[in-house]
Amino acid sequence: MSDTLQLDKRQRAMLAEMGVRVWTPIEQVEPLRAPANVSEKAPEANSVVRSKLQTTNTQTTSAYQAAVESTGAIADKQKAFEVNPQTANNLDWPSLREAVTNCQACGLCKSRRNTVFGTGSHVTASLANTEIQAVDWLIVGEAPGENEDAEGEPFVGQAGQLLDNMLRAMQLSRTGGLSSASESQRSIFITNVLKCRPPGNRNPTPEEVAQCMPYLERQIALLQPKIILAMGRFAAQALLRDSIDKVDTIPLGKLRGQVHHMGNTPVVVTYHPAYVLRNLPEKAKLWADACLAMATLNHR
Ligand code: URA
Repeated sequence: MSDTLQLDKRQRAMLAEMGVRVWTPIEQVEPLRAPANVSEKAPEANSVVRSKLQTTNTQTTSAYQAAVESTGAIADKQKAFEVNPQTANNLDWPSLREAVTNCQACGLCKSRRNTVFGTGSHVTASLANTEIQAVDWLIVGEAPGENEDAEGEPFVGQAGQLLDNMLRAMQLSRTGGLSSASESQRSIFITNVLKCRPPGNRNPTPEEVAQCMPYLERQIALLQPKIILAMGRFAAQALLRDSIDKVDTIPLGKLRGQVHHMGNTPVVVTYHPAYVLRNLPEKAKLWADACLAMATLNHR
């Protein structure tokens, strides 16, 4: 199908200025095959960006950026990433990672040193052949702090040490490198609601959470976790927004200690490790929630 609207960059910019969005029709192509072991929740496999990604030369260009720009949907290059978290719904794992790396959807991109996509035990290994396998555990925190921003890894500061200790006690490891590791060791992925650090570790704003959530939602759709452990109120609220009415008004202490659901996936809420470090008597509750999550997983 040929283009019905031939607009140059300046004309597109003028229309954008007036609030008019111009979409250029492109050829329909076969949808991408879903990665192995993944049953995708995303409804359409044939969006404009996904179609374009299929034909982009990833050796020479950023596949994600090229796909976005070549749709003609966005007036100028600087704005290319402002609306793009929505397109995350159609991305495979490597493209999703790249989208996060390049994201400029909110102001946090200006102050970040690195984006923090997440890390996992066997996910990293399978990235080599761009396939992604379902995981047993998904651990979701709030946002990168100073150390995470510097290293591009989640939970590498003090809160991360507490998390690692807890994971060890649960026979889990973020790298899969436990000495007792066996074929039956549970797999895990660790990430945050926000992929960029809020300056000074301030709380995420609702706008930042809304912009960033499509990335986490796509990670969940691709990883198909058997259980999610939501650490802290921002993770709990972001994940349970559609399942619990007015979840923002419910104290975390009332959300923990029970099994919620995000779609069909069980979600256990617990305190954030950084909060526990400031309130050491709460450590027992963090462990109790981890035990509830383990028991829930073992009964699935
Ligand atoms: N706190 C979080 O919520 N996430 C991190 O990655 C580090 C600290």
